[in-house]
Amino acid sequence: MTARGCRTGLAVAGIVLFLGTAAAAADGAIVLRGARVLTMDPAKPEAQAIALVDGAIAAVGSAEDIAPFLKGATVYDLPETALVLPGFQDSHNHLIWSATAAEDISLTDVADEAGLRAAIEPTLSKLPDGAWLRGGGWSVAVYKDLSAKALDAITGDRPAYFEDVDGHSGWANSAALKAAGIDACTKDPEGGRIERDAQGNPTGLLRETAMALVGDLLPDYPEAQVDAGLEKGQTEALSYGITAIIDPSATEWMLAGYQRADGAEKLKLNVEAAVKIEAEEGAAGAQRVLGLKNRYTSPHLEVTSVKLFVDGVIETGTAALLEAYVGSNSAGDPLFTQEQLDAVAVAADRVNLQLHAHAIGDRAVRMALDAYAAARKANGARDSRHQITHLELIDPADIPRFKELGVIANIQALWAYPDTYIVDLTEQKIGPERSQWLYPFGALKNAGATLAGSSDWSVSSMNPLEAIQTGVLRQDIADPNGKVLTPQHKLDVMDMVAAYTINGAYAAFDEDNSGSLTVGKRADVVVLDRDITKVPPTEISQGKVLATMIEGVPVYEGEGLPKPAGP
Ligand SMILES: [Zn+2]
Repeated sequence: MTARGCRTGLAVAGIVLFLGTAAAAADGAIVLRGARVLTMDPAKPEAQAIALVDGAIAAVGSAEDIAPFLKGATVYDLPETALVLPGFQDSHNHLIWSATAAEDISLTDVADEAGLRAAIEPTLSKLPDGAWLRGGGWSVAVYKDLSAKALDAITGDRPAYFEDVDGHSGWANSAALKAAGIDACTKDPEGGRIERDAQGNPTGLLRETAMALVGDLLPDYPEAQVDAGLEKGQTEALSYGITAIIDPSATEWMLAGYQRADGAEKLKLNVEAAVKIEAEEGAAGAQRVLGLKNRYTSPHLEVTSVKLFVDGVIETGTAALLEAYVGSNSAGDPLFTQEQLDAVAVAADRVNLQLHAHAIGDRAVRMALDAYAAARKANGARDSRHQITHLELIDPADIPRFKELGVIANIQALWAYPDTYIVDLTEQKIGPERSQWLYPFGALKNAGATLAGSSDWSVSSMNPLEAIQTGVLRQDIADPNGKVLTPQHKLDVMDMVAAYTINGAYAAFDEDNSGSLTVGKRADVVVLDRDITKVPPTEISQGKVLATMIEGVPVYEGEGLPKPAGP
């Protein structure tokens, strides 16, 4: 149950009283009709119309069923081809962080020295003396000369630090390395790596926990940047029909930012947040997270979970595998020992915190499952809904354990197609046999796992329709004739819709309030211009959102939404 769920609970009670006087109940309703309503509620899967009253769903059914709500209502006569769905839930979206950082220098698509210069120089000329150049978005798949010297040539003596697009590597210039005291004598921190040249000098690239050596020196973002960023990011989310998110790695400034927005009645999305605990902090971290949970609860915000980074990513060899990388003796080191991971999982589970583990390699996935099993053994089985996200490579022996342990598979379906990352940087590193188990969503589903859908924005687009199409086709959305990634792991479109609606609500312990169009639930609704369950799958991602409503209030209106009639 979320804080917001509690509030809606009151609203629903109000409606029940209201229904005694049908005429009064109708006043001020919003009615959507004329299009197919796909409820995601097995008790009544389909309907033709829906009425929203006082922030909650008051009726779902035929034209007759909603007739009592028409008087004084705002009525949308939707195109017949449209589809009404529960609002999308993005179960892993770094909204406030990414939206704030989006105001920094962007190295997205930087492919050469000229591009790097063009990205950095405009900011360089504006910054006060001594201020840091900061930003991110670079990708080793696009730009190769990732040296401190390459940055120095542009930045001079000013410290500069840029994170890569997936947040697992940092690129520092010489001034930043110097400020952090990193030189040839600096040891790699536990769970991290300072990349070095043949002489042992740091190159400027920092992996995983080594990123903090420089990252921790960056000044806090000004509140104005956070507030402006969040507003922009939220606007984008609403335009894609997203009505709730899990923010998987919130720090205190991020929680404060959400809360500030909520206090100003600007936070529309329902936000559940996870807070990271690292191996070094260990089990004591659970109490710190509880402290944050107490401080940062507001109507649309709740800290529910602990984020655990179990490993890195395959492309840089930092994902933890059960067997070594091809052509290497290394299988990648996890960021926790099993004992450390178990200790955090047991402590967090004991105080009813949910666990949200980043696990990419098959060893990391197994470690997370083992830790969840350890928590269950220590604290007893309960409805814990722990999650593992990313799940790039899973050993087939571990697939049934998701169902057995009640672990939610939190998937980024948009990653499951043969792009450069997969073809050049992943398949070659793990070989053909293991590559059969890349993003094995179909196997997870067949083994009874609950799949929740998410974007990992801003690692990739937060448009759920792109993820839904890719989950179904496992093919580049830009190339309908392109190669398919391990077709045995394709999902049905309804699996993907469930992942982004009712299963997302379940992952957030919010299924009593959201995730389906059921009378009494919060009126979080998305209207799409097409029925994505019926159009050819290659056309799903071209779908447009006609309207997004949260608590019955239109928060986004797209092109093509008919003007409502009345009251
Ligand atoms: Zn993430």
